Amino acid sequence: MRNPEYDAVVVGSGPNGLAAAIVLQQAGLSVLLLEGKDQLGGGLRTAELTLPGFHHDICSAIHPLAAASPYFQTLPLAQYGLEYITPPVAAAHPFDDGTAAMVVNSLADTAHSLGVDEQAYQQLLAPVVASWPRIANDVLAPLRFPKHPLDLARFGFSALQPATLLANRFQTREARGLLAGMAAHAIQPLQNLTTSAIGLVLLAAAHRKGWPLPKGGSQSIANALAAHFRALGGQIETGTFVRSLAQLPAAKAVLLDVTPAQLLQMAGHKLSGIYQWQLRRYRYGMGVFKVDWALDAPIPFTAEGCRQAGTVHLGGTLEEIAASEKAAAGGAHPEKPFVLLAQQSLFDATRAPAGQHTAWAYCHVPNGSTQDMTTAIELQIERFAPGFRERIIGRHTFNTAQMEAHNPNYVGGDINGGLLDLTQLFTRPALRASPYRTSQAGLYLCSSATPPGGGVHGMCGYHAASRALRDIFHLAPPPLYQESAAPALPHR
Ligand SMILES: Cc1cc2nc3c(=O)[nH]c(=O)nc-3n(C[C@H](O)[C@H](O)[C@H](O)COP(=O)(O)OP(=O)(O)OC[C@H]3O[C@@H](n4cnc5c(N)ncnc54)[C@H](O)[C@@H]3O)c2cc1C
Repeated sequence: MRNPEYDAVVVGSGPNGLAAAIVLQQAGLSVLLLEGKDQLGGGLRTAELTLPGFHHDICSAIHPLAAASPYFQTLPLAQYGLEYITPPVAAAHPFDDGTAAMVVNSLADTAHSLGVDEQAYQQLLAPVVASWPRIANDVLAPLRFPKHPLDLARFGFSALQPATLLANRFQTREARGLLAGMAAHAIQPLQNLTTSAIGLVLLAAAHRKGWPLPKGGSQSIANALAAHFRALGGQIETGTFVRSLAQLPAAKAVLLDVTPAQLLQMAGHKLSGIYQWQLRRYRYGMGVFKVDWALDAPIPFTAEGCRQAGTVHLGGTLEEIAASEKAAAGGAHPEKPFVLLAQQSLFDATRAPAGQHTAWAYCHVPNGSTQDMTTAIELQIERFAPGFRERIIGRHTFNTAQMEAHNPNYVGGDINGGLLDLTQLFTRPALRASPYRTSQAGLYLCSSATPPGGGVHGMCGYHAASRALRDIFHLAPPPLYQESAAPALPHR
């Protein structure tokens, strides 16, 4: 039952909406969280998309960012059933000769497996891994003066480079391919500045805590966050799609887990002319075409390492991956797309009936594309796992329009809430003193269209709610998790 008035209303229950709602509720405010769909979680939903008993992550699947989130780590989510499972190999990267490069938790072992690139890999990654606890809270934040400027500058020197340039530190096909696969998570041409940043953050996460997946599916993260919010006294209403701010109950603060296109529709007339102009100039990036499979056996990868990996990057050499990403960004549909694949059921028996399996994969396509990429994706898997297609007993696909229908934040299929390039990395969605404030007093944006951008970490929600707490309620935000000064990791 709704109250006539709240301190704060949050619209949208993605990881950022949930994080924002919890921050406000922790401060003792009365908070209502509204979700347009019947199922909570935004990019954290899990459902039986193919056959009964096969539980598929509709959007996000692998959660190094959630498990290491400086905000989520402060919350007692294990109490609400959240359990992470860490596969022995974070990511594998197969090649046509049946071998695969692998990223495992040990930095030394990963480096050693790269042959002549052992030292170059150590030199690139060891400082990032060691300094990560000191720089994480600044990297995952709006632009501000950092607490550890030297560490951050050192990270920035490598992170700002295009991945194609940073890869020149390596000689082997394996190390160059691995870096390309990691950097392609940036969803933009690998020749772009900052593509190395995403790659380095993901590699550092693998070497600190691995790349875990939540038992039961990504929905378990949303369920744990929602349970904690409710336990603090928060109220949640699902199935309430907000078309206009006029629909909302009275509140001192309103936080929207939506992107600029939706903000304009919901609140356009209330926003200043210049702010509307800035929002209209906001750019969305490539979309995704996604496939989920029910399988009667594990994927028969030729390379043993791929059979132990939670995530597999399918695209071969750096040159091939770079060409695929460039083509999709330029409006084409690559014949051999770079494919990100996860095989959760190998490590989590709750995902599929005994002996059977799920698989999850997507490739990048032009924003708004409705081209069916199923065959191209399955051929890429078949290339490294002959016999894969004979294992398929059920299949479900999403093109970019279907992805956006599932979640309106994925505009044109863009899963990052807007392009994450240099111009939109820290100033998304607009260049302002605080990117979370809109031009309307009391109205905030808290989605991945604000810094630090896409991924399940809740930090956009944390920073937006912190801004609202200070601006309106004159309250301090809850402290973030701070790992004690990092000990240098043991080296071989
Ligand atoms: C295929 C795919 C794979 C991905 N893989 C990963 C991964 O492995 N790891 C990772 O960290 N990230 C991954 N991501 C990205 C991640 O899911 C997003 O970056 C993250 O969910 C963004 O969180 P958010 O809270 O900003 O928005 P969302 O999670 O998109 O949530 C927004 C919520 O707001 C609701 N909403 C929107 N408009 C309204 C309205 N008008 N009224 C009411 N409710 C509304 C939506 O229904 C939705 O529930 C993936 C995404 C996709 C689609």
